[in-house]
Amino acid sequence: MDFKQLISHSKEYGFIFQSSEIYDGLSAVYDYGPMGVELKNNIKKYWWDSMVRLNQNIVGIDTAIFMHPSTWKASGHVDAFNDPLIDNKDSKKRYRADQLVEGYVEKIDIKIMKDVAKARKKFGDDFDEAQFRATNQRIIDRQTKMDDIMGRMGALLTAEDMEGMKALIEELEIACPESGSRNWTDVRQFNLMFSTQLGNISGSESKLYLRPETAQGIFVNFLNVQKSTRQKIPFGVAQIGKAFRNEIVARQFIFRMREFEQMEMQFFVRPGEEMKFYEEWKAKRLAWHMSLGTDASKLRFHDHDKLAHYANAAADIEFQFPFGFRELEGIHSRTDFDLTQHQNLSGKKLQYFDPEINESYVPYVVETSIGCDRMFLAMMANALQEETVPDADGKDSTRIVLKLPAAIAPVKVAILPLLKNKEPLTNLASDVYRKLQSHFNCQYDEKDAIGKRYRRQDAIGTPYCVTVDFDSLEDGTVTLRDRDTLQQKRVHIDALVAEVADSVSMATLLEKL
Ligand code: ATP
Repeated sequence: MDFKQLISHSKEYGFIFQSSEIYDGLSAVYDYGPMGVELKNNIKKYWWDSMVRLNQNIVGIDTAIFMHPSTWKASGHVDAFNDPLIDNKDSKKRYRADQLVEGYVEKIDIKIMKDVAKARKKFGDDFDEAQFRATNQRIIDRQTKMDDIMGRMGALLTAEDMEGMKALIEELEIACPESGSRNWTDVRQFNLMFSTQLGNISGSESKLYLRPETAQGIFVNFLNVQKSTRQKIPFGVAQIGKAFRNEIVARQFIFRMREFEQMEMQFFVRPGEEMKFYEEWKAKRLAWHMSLGTDASKLRFHDHDKLAHYANAAADIEFQFPFGFRELEGIHSRTDFDLTQHQNLSGKKLQYFDPEINESYVPYVVETSIGCDRMFLAMMANALQEETVPDADGKDSTRIVLKLPAAIAPVKVAILPLLKNKEPLTNLASDVYRKLQSHFNCQYDEKDAIGKRYRRQDAIGTPYCVTVDFDSLEDGTVTLRDRDTLQQKRVHIDALVAEVADSVSMATLLEKL
């Protein structure tokens, strides 16, 4: 299914709506509908449980969106949380200069991937992709060119050389996708933080920011958490919460929003041990994504070409979204930058006494940071499929099905009486619904033909449908239909909860980790 279909499906079935739609919407802000909120909550719960429940040395926290303005001075966001901005003078369209260059590089990468796909077709099972990439001259040349451009851009961004960025765009002859012209303005830095005012006091003293990341709430609480929980290093603090960024260009649906949600975990370690934990968390986070059934070919690591001001190592887990491989999660080794900065600016010690080595130090931090909304989009993109299946008469028909892992699907079981308004059939179906609803999120639906109701449940990813028919009145059994295999079996009403419980439980996912 293409991206447009995904967006319209999300709206039609109550997953995602444009914010303030009746006023023509607010750019890059979205609302989650009745199905969306369930799916999003399940994603959050799975992340939370895999961090906080499965690790004795990770604890949770929920900090305020507003923080003392000094926080953002210390963290470097006031001075350095910028993106390079460029306008095309003909189309008047605004772009992120680095994304224009990345788009150029991506086109080269697509050519490489085409060559690889062709070769794979030609050589079949014997094909060795790594060897092909290492020996095919055309691929080597293209790869060298890509690496060279990304390396140069990384250096320019690190040096904040905006003239250099413009020169690079001109050298690569990048044209505006809208107007086709190369008539560009200079590149300028643009700060991504939203600001507002505290109370009725005006002036810079009372200027507040909407947090652009949740991490700082964890850093400033480092000692509160450590002391109140008596955690010993290494330990982590996890948080899920809203973050806000005034993105220059916000396209691609919920991939890039101005208000979004992050799931972040800061892991505090002994200085010098950060690289070990950095590698460990990279592997753990990849395993988390794979546990949700995401195919390995759709995930890859990408080392940062430009390190943020706080990092000494950083990699993204990229997912193959419908518009290409893009960042889904970041794993960053943030050194002792943040804690040291807060210590300096607040004048309060943020140190840990390590009884094992009898020393006090400012801990180093390895963080994992994933956007909940991006994860949502990745899950939808993975799951939404159109397939041909036999209908009730055994004829081929197409269905749109959302093959979400059962544990994160919004609705677990749909209860469907064979006919509507038909006592005592509907009475019994209501009883079944009441029996199941305290165990699982269920839906009761008696409108339309049964086939149509199945399709509706397929479209929202419901793993099980329970049909109550006339036999049910006789023998207390119902038909249980599996979303993926389409197999149906008779199950006694009293056995339904046990029959379904395991496969829709989050434990099945957590056990894979
Ligand atoms: P990008 O390069 O795509 O702007 P980033 O490197 O600035 O992302 P981080 O600061 O590492 O992102 O944020 C951590 C995670 O938060 C990202 O991996 C992403 O999943 C999510 N995220 C960041 N910005 C947005 C946004 N505007 N909308 C939705 N999710 C976002």
